[in-house]
Amino acid sequence: MVNITDYTIEELEEYILSIGEKKFHAKQIFKWIHRVGVDSFDEMTDISKSLREKLKENAYIMRLEVLQCQVSKKDGTHKFLIKLSDNNAVESVVMRYHHGNTICVSSQVGCKMGCKFCASTKNGWRRHLLASEIEGQIIAAEKYMNEKISNIVYMGIGEPLDNYDNVVKSVKLINCPEGLGIGARHISISTCGLVDNIRRLADEKLQATLSISLHAVTDEKRKEIMPIANKYSIKELLDACTYYIMVTGRRISFEFALIAGVNDDEETARALAKLLRGMIAHVNLIPVNEIVNGQFKKSKPQDVDRFMGILNSSGVVATVRRELGSDIDAACGQLRQKYLDEQENNK
Ligand code: SF4
Repeated sequence: MVNITDYTIEELEEYILSIGEKKFHAKQIFKWIHRVGVDSFDEMTDISKSLREKLKENAYIMRLEVLQCQVSKKDGTHKFLIKLSDNNAVESVVMRYHHGNTICVSSQVGCKMGCKFCASTKNGWRRHLLASEIEGQIIAAEKYMNEKISNIVYMGIGEPLDNYDNVVKSVKLINCPEGLGIGARHISISTCGLVDNIRRLADEKLQATLSISLHAVTDEKRKEIMPIANKYSIKELLDACTYYIMVTGRRISFEFALIAGVNDDEETARALAKLLRGMIAHVNLIPVNEIVNGQFKKSKPQDVDRFMGILNSSGVVATVRRELGSDIDAACGQLRQKYLDEQENNK
């Protein structure tokens, strides 16, 4: 049985031809699965009964199940715990903005990258998500909320560029006009800095926004909080970013989680401004989530303001990310952690 949900239109055309049917059915089937979001072949009313029967014998539509949804009373943020077909679970978060709903999707079950401030990495890495499982989080959330989603950020559990092929394929599924039809300019892919794959991504010319988790301005400091810094230096990372901008013409977004006493001082702000000066970039300052045994503390609001002020007055555009869903377990990985603990207790 094949997971037909994971096929792009081109792959679906090949598949339809391989079972002795006409190619044009591929677009019809793709629309039913990705745009309408049906759960069974029987709901595909413009497809002949004989083709539907043939599909049922050879293929299945993969859907994800919402196990739990927490809704913020403050701002309507929806945090989903989503079950995959092999009983693993990932998280997705829908945030409400004036310009529409943005979903933060997961790209892997767990994460290998080991960033010290992140709960997603605590239980290690289990597997990559399929393209259809990444897109499936959007379909599941839209159905649950009965609302459309207009922007996607790949910032949930996992390192997107460590699951390169499936992530790029998922962008193609999401872009497809016969499917969700969400343009690449409404998609942001985050990375802790896999330099080689940043360059590959540039060459795909997808027009997606690239978002770099930087969090430090020296290699020494970065190594303390992000093991990936042992593999690639900040210089190599910024060179790859320059290449991305040159090839795509797209601005890069730099994420900088401010940790009290670690990276929120004036000197760091000035060094960051110097590193990014002249680059088409935007800095998102994020007061860090205090998740890992209280090891990291959030910067004080006045330190965040001072940091932002130094960047802006140096010509580097910086904003502070609004904290959404602060009354629910909004930090990435926490809901899944509870699920894993419960599974462990039930053994
Ligand atoms: S911050 Fe991102 S890359 Fe780092 S461990 Fe967490 S999920 Fe992985």
